[in-house]
Order: sequence, then C-alpha cells, then structure tokens
Amino acid sequence: MAFEGIEGQAQAAHQLGALLRSGRLPHALLFLGSAGTGRLATARELAGVLLCSEAAEPDESCGRCTDCRMLAADTHPDYAEVGLPEGRQALPLQAVRDVQHSAGLKPVRAARRVFVVRDAERVTEEAANAFLKTLEEPPGGCVFVLIASSLRRIPETIVSRCRPVRFTNIAPDVLGRHLEAQGYGPDDAHWLAGRCWGAPGLAERLGRAGLHELNRELIARLQSASPDDNLSLSDWLAGQARGAGGASAREALQDMLECLAVYCRDLALLAAAPQGPHPLVNRGSEPELRERSAGGSAEQFLDHADTVMETIEMVGANAQMRLALDRMFTLLCGAATRPT
Ligand SMILES: [Zn+2]
Repeated sequence: MAFEGIEGQAQAAHQLGALLRSGRLPHALLFLGSAGTGRLATARELAGVLLCSEAAEPDESCGRCTDCRMLAADTHPDYAEVGLPEGRQALPLQAVRDVQHSAGLKPVRAARRVFVVRDAERVTEEAANAFLKTLEEPPGGCVFVLIASSLRRIPETIVSRCRPVRFTNIAPDVLGRHLEAQGYGPDDAHWLAGRCWGAPGLAERLGRAGLHELNRELIARLQSASPDDNLSLSDWLAGQARGAGGASAREALQDMLECLAVYCRDLALLAAAPQGPHPLVNRGSEPELRERSAGGSAEQFLDHADTVMETIEMVGANAQMRLALDRMFTLLCGAATRPT
C-alpha cells in the first residue's frame, strides 16, 4: 500500500487508502496540518497512485513504469503543482488561472490529471472565487489536492467542496528518538523535535540546515549581550540568514527568529518556577538559560516572545527587515527604555 512511508500519519494513510480502494476518491481533497507533517509528500504519493499505468492494486503505484518515473523526475504532463511564488505572500489569481486552463484540457498520458495547490490558505479572494468555479463544476478526470495549515483563511465555500484529510504532529519525544536513531546527539534531537512541535519534515529540514548548531551560537551570543549589542546581533542574524543555502534569506531568518521565540518561552518557564521541573526545548543549554532567566520575570520573557513573533510577521510582510531586527534586539538585550 502507498503512504506507509509517511511518518506518524497512519490515520491519513488509512483514509486515503480506503477512498482509493472504494473507487470513490473525491475530486477535491484538503490536506490540513502544520508544515513538515508530510502533506506534500503524501499528495505526491497520491498522484503516483492515480497516474501509475501498471499498478496491481488501486491504492498502489508500481514505481517503475514510465508514468511513475516521469512523476519522480517532475516531468509528468498530467501533474501540476502551484504554490506561493518566491517572495510573495499571497497565491495570485494567475496561479489559479493556470490550473483552470490545464484542468480544461484532456490528460496527455494518464486517465486523469492531478493538481496540487500548496499554501491554499494564502489564496487571494479573487483567486478563491475563480477556483470555486472549478470546484463547483470540476472537469472530468481531475483530482485537486489543496494543502493548508489552517482553515482560518480559506473561504468556507471552498472548504465545503473538499474532503478534509488531517495530518497531525507526532509526540516530540517519539520524534526525538527517531532523530537520535538518525545520528543526532540526544540534546540536538530533543531540541529539533521540540522546536518543530513534532513535525518530522520540518525537523529534517532544520536539521539539514544546521539550525540546532546555529541556535547554540545564538544563545551564546545573547548570553553575553549588553544593551549596546543590539545592532551587532542584528548584523549577525541578518548575515546568517543571507548566507543560508537553499531557503530564501527571508525564510531562513524566520526559521531563526522562531528559535529565538522558543528560547524566550524557555526563559519564561524558568522564571515562573525556578525549581522546575521544566519541559525546556533548550534543555542542553539549561545552565545558560537559568543564569539569563534570573534577571527577569516570566511576564517580561513572554512579552519578548511576543515581540519576536511580531518580528516574524513583519519579516514575512516584507517590512524593513533591519529595522524590525534592531527594534527586537533592543528589547531583548534589555535596554532601559522600551522602544515603541
Ligand atoms: Zn507505475
């Protein structure tokens, strides 16, 4: 059966397998769950099952036929994926128009076409309205998989036309053991699992990017920071983001800022109850965090975490990145007057 390799998502795998075997797969599915829980990998596996020309069972793909190989090479003419264009915050109307245009054509090789819409919660209102027409009168033989992390921003009219499939985060201690088995040290595995809220794909991505090491350096720099260090910390963080390979600088910066928010929450936990026990994500840096937390209150550190989250949003909204970072570090480094 397909989907067995998608870690921790037995429920979603079971649901999709049953739909495929029953021959009643809906024309639109909505994969809901946080980033890194395997939504896209599952959508691609589903496409493999739907496009494979030599599968023995309705819920399998052979992995060897021309269709399977074309899909793996990202060249299958009956498969298309759309998502946020680089540097954009909303899924534009044109992306939906492209899908609609292709959906109106006959499949080239397979019996159907499969369309995957990533970041479906970022769809603009006009794009959502356009897409709704396609979902209301779906062209024959098309399967649409929408991927989203939350229902909040998707119009109800679209949600109501899709079959939801939920992807859950797995328990961080389970993910931590899995990461240890992959060769991470216990503290790094614990940190990655906690930092990623049990999302295996995210933990793998951040682990590959070396974020656990960067996080240690960030903590060391904050440990010795004085109020005058806000600009040099901004410089350092922005420089690290620019130098990040693969992901865009903006995404890399947001990843690092989320580490900072987790650090602030750990400080708040320690400040609230110094005797513990504490479910610290930064367990490996507990002595440093203890020292740092002694200088403030839980309320103050939660306030810092909020500021970091605001900064993440500002960075995402294309705000002045440097200005946002300077403002945040001024607060975190404990300047006497809080900037406004
Ligand atoms: Zn095949």
